[in-house]
Amino acid sequence: MAANKLFGGVEAGGTKFVCATGTGTDKLRVSVEIPTRRPESTLREVIDFFRSQEGGTERLAGAAIGSFGPLELNENASNYGHILKTTKPGWEGFDIRGELARALDVPVAIETDVNAAAIGEMNWGAARGLQHCLYVTVGTGIGVGAIVDGKILHGEHHPEMGHTFVPISPDETDAFEGICLYHKSCVEGLASGIAIVSRWGRKLIDIPKNHPAWHLEAQYLAKFLANLTFVLQPQRIIIGGGVMNETLLSMVRELLHSTIASYRPTLTAREAMNDYLVMPELGGRAGVLGAIAIAATARL
Ligand code: ZN
Repeated sequence: MAANKLFGGVEAGGTKFVCATGTGTDKLRVSVEIPTRRPESTLREVIDFFRSQEGGTERLAGAAIGSFGPLELNENASNYGHILKTTKPGWEGFDIRGELARALDVPVAIETDVNAAAIGEMNWGAARGLQHCLYVTVGTGIGVGAIVDGKILHGEHHPEMGHTFVPISPDETDAFEGICLYHKSCVEGLASGIAIVSRWGRKLIDIPKNHPAWHLEAQYLAKFLANLTFVLQPQRIIIGGGVMNETLLSMVRELLHSTIASYRPTLTAREAMNDYLVMPELGGRAGVLGAIAIAATARL
């Protein structure tokens, strides 16, 4: 990579857009956070930021967006790079990739926000050197980015693992019907941040740790992660998002260990779970750094 090539990353979220330029964590330039408004005015600010970063011999060579979705990621589709059905005002059907590419006049790649975060952690964070890893976020919603054999897992449409279903334990009942707009009781509908507030009237962190809310949340997440483990066999799962904290993490590790049992020989020892299920190393920067990595390595 020539020294004068700058790459731009955007993490496009429902409340804010995080933008940065650089070639990695050590060369990361100023990053800015732009509140998410309607598409045109939000993108205008993103474009102005990238233009302000160019100077001397340095020019933007490419950019990538890790975006909220759902997205059309099939390059052969007429609406490639568009945001699909969303309740966010003005964003449904918006050509976020095309608008940015035309304004910046450089190639622009697009990925889901969680896939970009997985790439960020694989390049510079908790999944460095691995070939198979998952990035799970448990926040307002639940999303998963998957890297398998060193490549982002796509398929016909990008995976929507937060909308899969998990059973509750036979010894427990759950009268809560779930809040997913599409399925009510998928894992996002039962265990996301919004689901917790709907169910208990407050955030998990504001509920005493001996309250059943903690165990129930840990159970849902452990079963969800067990399913992902059996299907995708990652070397490591990175789990972040606003709901996660060290207490919940250790509860989930315990339950996940007993759920996986001996089906995964390398995870038989309880201590192995401490290395298997970890928090993100890049924190809130995983997505925007991943976008820079995608911009720098994509076939642009
Ligand atoms: Zn759902």
